[in-house]
Amino acid sequence: MSIADNLLKYKSELDKEQVELIAVSKYQDTDAILEAYNAGQRVFGENIVQELADKQQQLPADIEWHLIGHLQTNKVKYIAPFIKLIQSVDSLKLLVEINKQAAKHKRVIDCLLQIYIADEDTKFGLGFDQAIELLRSDEFAELKNIRIVGLMGIASNNATEKQTTDEFTELKVLFDGIKLSFFRKEDSFKEVSMGMSGDYKLAIEAGSTMVRIGSSIFGKRKIKHYKTE
Ligand SMILES: *Cc1c(COP(=O)(O)O)cnc(C)c1O
Repeated sequence: MSIADNLLKYKSELDKEQVELIAVSKYQDTDAILEAYNAGQRVFGENIVQELADKQQQLPADIEWHLIGHLQTNKVKYIAPFIKLIQSVDSLKLLVEINKQAAKHKRVIDCLLQIYIADEDTKFGLGFDQAIELLRSDEFAELKNIRIVGLMGIASNNATEKQTTDEFTELKVLFDGIKLSFFRKEDSFKEVSMGMSGDYKLAIEAGSTMVRIGSSIFGKRKIKHYKTE
């Protein structure tokens, strides 16, 4: 099936569930992204800042770009003018820098806190206690140019269905607790970004509002010249 066919298949399935599709276009060339764009997709996720900034310049201006990969504080400035959602916030220090760069552009940048739910050492993210500590801090309360709109998590690789479901459920339970404690009156705090090509169905059953799907829309990743840190 073509990229357009794949996309339309996911779109109709996810629309029924009222779950948002983030088309993960990392390592895909601009032709592939345009094929998805021409089939109606407007929201794309990338995980390397330089690749994201290059593509943003080359592609239509009405694309909503999400950063889903690890972000270093010294790179925030490259995406601050245009980024729609930073899904991978994993420290207060990073949030302070995003706030500073957003202010320069007179913007409020939407962010998700990335929560560590996998049973592995390799994934970035905040622990449950760290996330709550961040939200309670006086420093956080002063940040006016960022808005936390939900949580993001990545389940363990190669886990059983049960483990994956448990990890997604933990994230949803944390989301519900944080909603009650910190964002009860804020309708904008509503996103639980979880689920990728291999596990999006389990994620939706566990309460995902936003899935990040790459390889099963675009096929193999092509570009390899961007360095991850
Ligand atoms: C690459 C990536 C995805 C998409 O993964 P696929 O298995 O290709 O669907 C989703 N989320 C994050 C954070 C990623 O880095």
